[in-house]
Amino acid sequence: MSDIPVHSKPLVESTATGELLIGGQRLTRLVERAGRTPFYAYDRRLIRSRVAELRETLPAGTKLHYAMKANPFVPLVCFMSQLVDGIDVASAGELNVALNAGADPAEVSFAGPGKSEAELSQAVASGVLINVESQRELRLLASVADRLGIAPRVALRVNPGFELKGSGMKMGGGPKQFGIDEEDIPEALADIRALGLAFEGFHLFAGSQNLRADAVCEAQRQAFALARRLAVHAPAPVRVLNLGGGFGIPYFPGERPLALGPIGENLTQIREQCLREMPEAIMVVELGRYLVGEAGVYVARVVDRKVSRDQIFLITDGGLNHHLSASGNFGQVIRKNFPVAINGKASGQRETVSVVGPLCTPLDLLADRVELPAADIGDLFVVFQSGAYGASASPQAFLGHPPCAELLV
Ligand SMILES: *Cc1c(COP(=O)(O)O)cnc(C)c1O
Repeated sequence: MSDIPVHSKPLVESTATGELLIGGQRLTRLVERAGRTPFYAYDRRLIRSRVAELRETLPAGTKLHYAMKANPFVPLVCFMSQLVDGIDVASAGELNVALNAGADPAEVSFAGPGKSEAELSQAVASGVLINVESQRELRLLASVADRLGIAPRVALRVNPGFELKGSGMKMGGGPKQFGIDEEDIPEALADIRALGLAFEGFHLFAGSQNLRADAVCEAQRQAFALARRLAVHAPAPVRVLNLGGGFGIPYFPGERPLALGPIGENLTQIREQCLREMPEAIMVVELGRYLVGEAGVYVARVVDRKVSRDQIFLITDGGLNHHLSASGNFGQVIRKNFPVAINGKASGQRETVSVVGPLCTPLDLLADRVELPAADIGDLFVVFQSGAYGASASPQAFLGHPPCAELLV
């Protein structure tokens, strides 16, 4: 299967006929299990091995959190809650899913701007750590604390002065809606002391989808140095030091997997410093797509084949309503093709095709002029690297087609 990028190889063991094996099962059989197309399938084995690799590389004692906005499929969150040390949520809805999935509230943290009083009350009553993003949230938390008689556990989300260079999405540095600017943190810490909230530490999340180990390392060092400077003003020792994540996965031709080794070495050095200078602090790394993105595929069936002015179109029953990311409309600046394949075509004629969905919009493009084995109506079209920001990040109601199925294999 020459279409499959090297990094997807473990996912796509294929039989002699080119039939894909997902979680060790033939794709055609998985379709029967799903009962319909399109669907997403997530491979537990791949997630487990990804987590094992991280555990081996990160310094002992570093906590590994799953940022569940990457994939909030409930069975997957249940699985993750047994596998990692904590779950990061970004809404009260996600908080409920994480707690119902069995996550320990002591190891759940809640970030996100604009938390409502109701959300904050839910978080305080649940006993989770709240990553505070504004002065307003601090004041609301003080009144929630009075009403419930519970001291809220708080960390401050810091909007640092630095950026995570080379990130697909920047979420810190410069003016941002996330966190509290680092220059305003001393004042927020004084407020925490005055309001009697239970201070636990800092949360620094600078960016997402980064494939440059050197950039990730630099941001982690800067985050640690900043936390150390800010800790001087804190009303209590730092116990939680969430250094963010931003570990990316390769989606497009020419992209190389992130080198984990240097990040492990860097974090080991930071941890040694941390043990000396903030001995009560536990370091946390929060990852979304790096844990689950490469473990998922999206599968749709070819339902029509058309030639328009010499260009071949494969029309599938899937589309941007299920997989906005693959259509290039979820934050990409320049549209590029995700890695894709046609199931069960190891050899034979190849052709250049565009793969689309049934929606009445030209945006509904899953692969633009890619070379694939010649496909017929009824064949299965597969998009790799689809385990994160898939079903939940797509406008499923748009145009009224049925929602996709999801399977954990
Ligand atoms: C989105 C988000 C993540 C996860 O990002 P990935 O790119 O999926 O790893 C982690 N932390 C915070 C605060 C986020 O907003």
